[in-house]
Amino acid sequence: MKRNEKCDACGAATPAYEGVNFSQGETRRFLCTKCFNEAVAKHSGVDFHHLSFHPIILADQDNKNHTFHFQPRLFGDHVTIEALEIHNDEPKGYEFSICGDAEDDLFALFAKLVERMRRELQRRHIEPGDLTRHQITNGDTLRGRITWDDDTNGEVPCLVIDGKELSWHEVGRMLMTYEGFHFKLEIFEGSEER
Ligand SMILES: [Zn+2]
Repeated sequence: MKRNEKCDACGAATPAYEGVNFSQGETRRFLCTKCFNEAVAKHSGVDFHHLSFHPIILADQDNKNHTFHFQPRLFGDHVTIEALEIHNDEPKGYEFSICGDAEDDLFALFAKLVERMRRELQRRHIEPGDLTRHQITNGDTLRGRITWDDDTNGEVPCLVIDGKELSWHEVGRMLMTYEGFHFKLEIFEGSEER
């Protein structure tokens, strides 16, 4: 279901993931990304020109298409571009971001992000399993994103691996085929590529 919010500055109907919610004193405000960036640029005196990027479709290793929407956000002297995979008007699946200088060429930063997304979509960590829904590929490595799991009320995470949601229990079951092995768990920011 598409839930649009109304931008408090320009009045544009905007999906929640394409804007910013914040509180100013007692009042809650919602600004579309463009108005948010313009307000931040004015406030911090940065020479910033907002760009709206069209959604793009990228194929993964199985030739399955993924649609991404982009949000450039200005935070004082730095800028991030977030790429969200959108399914039925909701963010779901892959998520990437890149961080740069506010006065950098935004389009160059966008191009860098897309290059990285292409590389990441060609990586495969899990495949259909014999005993479980998924199993770890022979690279013996998992990369993914730690997200909130409503089913456990956030007690343990839901992990998004190769754009697919896996419960903590499913990840545990995949690991049991490695009983007796050791592992290394490394945590890093979504704007990094490792
Ligand atoms: Zn607006």
